[in-house]
Amino acid sequence: MKFISTRGDAKAVAISSALQNGLAEDGGLYVPESFPLFDWQALDSAMSYPDFATKLLTPFFNGDALENQLSTICHESFNFPLPLVNIDQKTSVLELFHGMTLSFKDFGARFLANALSHIKTDKKFTIMVATSGDTGSAVAAAFYQKKNINVMVLFPKGKISMRQQKQITCWQDNVCAVEVNGTFDDCQALVKGAFADNWWQNNTYLNTSNSINIGRLLPQTTYYAYIAWQYFLKHGKKANFIVPSGNIGNVCACFWAKKMGLPIGDIVIAQNENNVIGQFLAHKILPNKASIETLANAMDVGKPSNFERLYALFPDFDVFAHEVKAFKASDSDIKKMIAEVKNEHNMLICPHTATAFFARESLTEDTHYIVVATAHPAKFEEVIEPITQEKIKVPEHLNKLLEKKQQSVGVSANLNALTEQYQAYFGVYSSSS
Ligand SMILES: *Cc1c(COP(=O)(O)O)cnc(C)c1O
Repeated sequence: MKFISTRGDAKAVAISSALQNGLAEDGGLYVPESFPLFDWQALDSAMSYPDFATKLLTPFFNGDALENQLSTICHESFNFPLPLVNIDQKTSVLELFHGMTLSFKDFGARFLANALSHIKTDKKFTIMVATSGDTGSAVAAAFYQKKNINVMVLFPKGKISMRQQKQITCWQDNVCAVEVNGTFDDCQALVKGAFADNWWQNNTYLNTSNSINIGRLLPQTTYYAYIAWQYFLKHGKKANFIVPSGNIGNVCACFWAKKMGLPIGDIVIAQNENNVIGQFLAHKILPNKASIETLANAMDVGKPSNFERLYALFPDFDVFAHEVKAFKASDSDIKKMIAEVKNEHNMLICPHTATAFFARESLTEDTHYIVVATAHPAKFEEVIEPITQEKIKVPEHLNKLLEKKQQSVGVSANLNALTEQYQAYFGVYSSSS
């Protein structure tokens, strides 16, 4: 199996190279050249999730050096629960937040970390991410103590929540937390700057490990596929999903699972005020707007990079518009749903999950939907507690992280300052000078 660019102008590569490169050389995103049909009807119904994931992903690793490691990678990565909770006759909730850092990002980040750690290279990898929330903590946790991988997580000073910051700065060892004296955009500009810089190019294999990396999306197909298969075994019907979406990676993985023939019916995109898909459906053209800050901050994306991958699945706009449904929730809709779900089902939901519950209300009562819960409510206690008027219980593994020693290095928003900190922290000095 080869991976090609959404822009069609880059060399087709095997999975190892796609993981290592991140972005294709023409600036597009890697997608599989085809989606093989998955014969889920032939499976033993007792198969475990990691074994199911291995079987589903095997065609994508065919002929690659990582093929024989795939089972190990899946077992190392998917080692936490994946509950589907029924809340009434017509709605279930898929909880994707039982990993180490309590969001669905743990699935993709762990898979990518384990996959990269099995790739043999002459230079170390450096994972560099700019973060305003869940990605940084998931990546730091996933890559912690992986051999031959250095990690730099850049966050804007004073602009992320205390719990988010603690989940980034509690690692040390091969994870260097960098507090940038600037904004999130400054952090992103530093990452881009490093990619374009000779010193970084010569001294390490840089990788951002954000959701442009196909190594984050492929593993996300596995939970949709597994749950749809289980749902079909139990009910003899296709599963319909509502997915809270920002950068469109998670929901794209759901469409990929459907494309592989899994029993999936409707896929509904739930968004906050940054309702890029809704605007695209209305005007046939992507809005060109900066992102708006909302209560569901992990979905505050004005220009979703994975849109290219999603759109590439359909021959034209009309088919896209026929297959893709989108709903928008404002901040007041989000608050209303947090209160309502607590009152009616005694369940706490995060602000992102609330957008999917809001979409659920607009959809017909006659059809069963699975609402995808993307983060644990304990990560967003500042939003939820004033609404529900009660303290959220913090899961044991988050408490452990919050109690660890915090350490970060400070830099100004300047690439030389960042390079010096890298050299000092990791003891890597130029090989060329
Ligand atoms: C990242 C994130 C999202 C958005 O997912 P995309 O793949 O970017 O669409 C939704 N909810 C939470 C909690 C997230 O961390």
